[in-house]
Amino acid sequence: MISKILVANRGEIAVRIIRACKELGITTVAVYSKADASSLHVRMADQAVCIGEAPAGQSYLNISNIISAAINTGCQAIHPGYGFLAENAYFAEMCSTHGVKFIGPSPHTIKTMGDKIAARELAGRTGIPVVPGSQGGVSDVKTALRVADEIEYPVLLKAAAGGGGKGMRLVHNRKELERTLEVVQYEAQAAFGDGKVYIEKYIEEPRHIEIQVLGDEHGNLIHLGERDCSIQRRNQKLLEESPSPFVDEELRARMGQMALKVAEATEYCSAGTVEFLVDRHKNCYFIEVNTRIQVEHPVTEMVTGVDLIKEQIKIAGGSELKIPQDEVKLSGWAIECRINAEDPNQDFIPSAGTVVNYLPAGGPGVRVDSYLYTGYTVLPYYDSLLGKLIVWAPDRSQAIERMDRALGEHLIEGVKTTIPFHQQVLGNSFFRRGEVYTNFIARRIDTNRK
Ligand code: ADP
Repeated sequence: MISKILVANRGEIAVRIIRACKELGITTVAVYSKADASSLHVRMADQAVCIGEAPAGQSYLNISNIISAAINTGCQAIHPGYGFLAENAYFAEMCSTHGVKFIGPSPHTIKTMGDKIAARELAGRTGIPVVPGSQGGVSDVKTALRVADEIEYPVLLKAAAGGGGKGMRLVHNRKELERTLEVVQYEAQAAFGDGKVYIEKYIEEPRHIEIQVLGDEHGNLIHLGERDCSIQRRNQKLLEESPSPFVDEELRARMGQMALKVAEATEYCSAGTVEFLVDRHKNCYFIEVNTRIQVEHPVTEMVTGVDLIKEQIKIAGGSELKIPQDEVKLSGWAIECRINAEDPNQDFIPSAGTVVNYLPAGGPGVRVDSYLYTGYTVLPYYDSLLGKLIVWAPDRSQAIERMDRALGEHLIEGVKTTIPFHQQVLGNSFFRRGEVYTNFIARRIDTNRK
């Protein structure tokens, strides 16, 4: 049994994990950087330990300080949240070496799935369709040109270790490919410490649809339906929904089976997400697996009634998953808007400053996962996500109306936020009809509107 957990994160996800622990009767320890001393997760946890200076490299990424904090405070487990060390196999390994349970899948699973080339190969071996592309990585221009000729342009050059929508480049022809390969290799080495690059065919106007899975140590494995994350800016998600307006029962069952096949092949234990691109003909192509809780997990929670963080904790404690596949039902519709401290009228430039007034939305069907409070100063060191506004309603059109109403109520004064951008998306007639794809924003939304 786990009775005390260290939360190795900050911001809204640290708050979310602390809330789940409280409801489970688990004591929590927060960690924080010197700049975060007055952050909400520090106030909410039962105990808090300062682990270093403001830059994440000296605090939230400092493995020895975090593991020491867990040992010194008598924690049996560490929840990494998302980002920072959540997909760091070495960290997971170090936790187990020191007798602290890492709340997530095994280091081996994290390592395999963290290398997108290895993940592609694994998915391919299970027989599920992957995006056409190179067998393994490409290191020289000659091979790259041969692969691209075969699969036809446009193609994407992708970093094997890439993440967060970074580390990929669109290439339209041979000349561009010749010029770009070395640049992408260099950038991948600099950003991710791994210069390995591979090629994928660029799928035109796909939807990004992902399947949530849960597995335990006893071999039980289920999926909890899909999330549609097609509303993206520069390959980064901004608004997510569940179910997807594009997915019918047949496609859901097919994608669910594909996701389970991949998860089964790695004996997946914990919460994870299998991501696909889906074209207009309902062809699905595997792209990657995220071996952690996702930012957008609440939409799945709202339509399934399953608390994914609690399930992760119970699974880490050795419990058997108590939800059989046939009891997973998607009920109603959920939408999430990411509220970032960014100015949508100025190319989404990050906006730091003090929140002089904060009055979160409320009322029926509204959930707010955030770490804001009036007087909080948004720091320039970390991710710009202030929180998430999530709504649930019986169907999609009511969920849209509800989100529109909630966005109008959600008052954050002192910093610029993405709220006006979301209002613009919700008002768009293509969005309302569910005609969304990953380049929807570039195509349909005028982000320079003043
Ligand atoms: P990351 O790990 O950085 O999030 P992903 O591989 O999950 O990278 O891709 C992120 C997004 O990039 C996708 O949701 C999609 O919008 C776009 N993308 C990735 N691969 C392709 C592809 N082969 N064709 C078209 N778009 C793609």
